[in-house]
Formats: sequence, structure tokens, C-alpha cells
Amino acid sequence: SGQRGLEDAENSLRELAALAETAGARVLDGLLQRRANPDPSTYLGKGKARELQELVAAVGADTVVADTELAPSQRRALEDVVKVKVIDRTAVILDIFSQHAKSREGKAQVELAQLEYLLPRLRGWGESMSRQAGGQVGSGGAGMGSRGPGETKMELDRRKIHTRMAKLRKQIAGFAPAREAKRSSRKRGEVPSVAIAGYTNAGKSSLVNRLTGTQELVQNQLFATLDTAVRHAETADGRSFTYADTVGFVRNLPHQLVEAFRSTFEEVGEADVILHVVDGSHPDPESQLRTVRDVIAEVDAQAIPELVAFNKADLLDDSQRLVLHGLVPDAVFVSARTGEGIEELRARIDAALPIPDREVTAVIP
Ligand code: GDP
Repeated sequence: SGQRGLEDAENSLRELAALAETAGARVLDGLLQRRANPDPSTYLGKGKARELQELVAAVGADTVVADTELAPSQRRALEDVVKVKVIDRTAVILDIFSQHAKSREGKAQVELAQLEYLLPRLRGWGESMSRQAGGQVGSGGAGMGSRGPGETKMELDRRKIHTRMAKLRKQIAGFAPAREAKRSSRKRGEVPSVAIAGYTNAGKSSLVNRLTGTQELVQNQLFATLDTAVRHAETADGRSFTYADTVGFVRNLPHQLVEAFRSTFEEVGEADVILHVVDGSHPDPESQLRTVRDVIAEVDAQAIPELVAFNKADLLDDSQRLVLHGLVPDAVFVSARTGEGIEELRARIDAALPIPDREVTAVIP
């Protein structure tokens, strides 16, 4: 896999840096390690771990973010070498979700996901840190990866955490009827909506800009659209509808986050059409497609008509197009950059949108 593998690792690392910045960190430097099998003890291996320690000391970092999910023992062993806090990708993503959850349901779901993540990591979390920082771990609790039910709750024993998780699950189940009522009370003839779903960096924002003719800045921050941005549009025959930009998906999204996604993805479940944007130039579009569809199914939105758009068509050659066509035969090829396929996509969206019921006016004789 050579070059591809390296490119992919670099892309993933770049995405991780963007995630860490979204979580409020300042990214100082990066280090790439290629090895067939992770070292069972420190993941990186002795030499590379020492190199990392030197880098940490040189740039004055206070946290190392690993682009993988580390076993608790590996994280501890690595902390012993680098002498600063080590967190993994999942912790960063959880952190972002805890910052962005607004509703009570969303907050409960993120806390549940955090506890699920925490439970197997409970033993020894922060041990090496307290050894060297004189037991100061968790005093601030505001550092990346330690928000929410982080180190301040670390003293809770597993039983207490299980009790809390059971309570959260019950609480979350209690929200479901209200959500269902909201859904079924949707008025007929309401302005229809198109939900944009897709992997982070697929070009969702760029494409919506094209479709709506707006020139909004394409945000560099991941999850800039965690709070759904709704934009107004019109079909060719003058019917209004809305585009709802949803949160982007990321690589290696841990399963415990799918539930947390549920609340942020409510809009997808409420939409009349899902516009699923896929980066056609991505090395593995099939896995992106699958990841996003899995989550669509998880939020009970699989019955909503899905329109797949392979974006970045300007980067595709004929053989790539053929493969993509094989994956989703009725997909539209578009380029937010050059405008290719935009008219066709508009027409397909128009056709997929429901015709609103005509208003009936009672005539009183
Ligand atoms: P989002 O995270 O899905 O909203 O993706 P963005 O709209 O932020 O785009 C991600 C990156 O892909 C940006 O650097 C865009 O400039 C680039 N991009 C978006 N659409 C296209 C396209 O059609 N062709 C090419 N070559 N690049 C694109």
C-alpha cells in the first residue's frame, strides 16, 4: 500500500490536528510512525517514544494526542516516557461533542458515551501524571480530553459509574416519546427540507454554497456545523425548501459516539430528502459511504429518500468514475469547484422533494 498508506496516515493526522484545534488546543507539531504492528508496551516502540519525548520537550507541549485508540496500559507506558498527558483520538472527539451538546438530551448522550469510553480506562488513569505532578491531576479539569465526566469524577468507583450510566440510559429513553411526538406533529404542507450528510471534508459546505449561490466562507474548523445551519432555497418552479447542513463525519468514529450523534443528527431524521455527499476522490469512498449509511440507519432515517452525490468530480478519471458508478448507479457526479453536475443535482433534488399539499380554503356559502 506504500504511498497510499502514507498519504492516508498524513490525511488522518491532519484531520486529528483540526479536531484538536476544534477542541481548543494549539497544535505544535506532529510525528508520524510507520510500523506493521504496534508495540504492545508503548504502541510507538522505544526509540520512537523517546523521539516523541524529545519533540514534546523541544516544543513545550503539555499534551500528546495519539491518532489511534490506545489500550489503557499503552497510554500509561507512553505517559511514563513522554512525561506529559497522553490522550487518544476518541477522547478528543468526545471532548468536542461535550462542548457542543446543547440540549438536555444531547448532554446526557454525550456523558453516556464518555462514561462508556472511560470505564475500561478507569484503572490507572492519571497515575503517572499524579506521580510526577504531585497529585494535581484533575484539579482544573478543563484540559482537552478531560472535560465532562473526566478526572474530577475519576474517584467514583465502577459501580457508581454503572449506576450513573443506567440513570442516563433511562433519562435518554424518556426523551424518545417527546421526539416521536415532535416528529408526528409535523404539519403537512410545511416547508420541505434537504439534510446534507457526509464525511468531513467531502465538500458539503462548498456544495451547499454552490447550490444556494451563497459565498459563505468554507470553514476550516471541523464540526463548524455541529449546530445545524439551515439555508433557504427554491426549486426551479418556485417552491421553497431548506438545506440543513449537519455535522460532518470523521474517521474512526467510535461506536459509543453514534448515540451521541443521534441528537445532533435529529435534523436528518426530520428531513424529506437526504443529500449524501461523498468525496469521490477519496482512496476509500466505499467505507465512507458505509459509515455514513450506518449512522443514517442508527438515527432511524433509512426510510428517507437518499440522493448520493460524488463530489470532487474534477479530480476523477474515467476508471474512477466507473468504480463509483458501480457503487451507487444512480448517483450524480458533481464538482463544487468547477460547477460540473450542479444543474443535474438541482433537478434531482427538485424531483425528490415532496409537492406540498395545496392549501384548502373552506368556502362558506
Ligand atoms: P465539508 O467538511 O464536507 O463541509 O467540506 P468543505 O466544503 O469544507 O470542503 C473540504 C475541502 O475540499 C476544501 O478544501 C474544499 O476546497 C475542497 N473541495 C470541495 N469541493 C471540491 C471539489 O468539487 N473539487 C475539489 N478539487 N475540491 C473540493
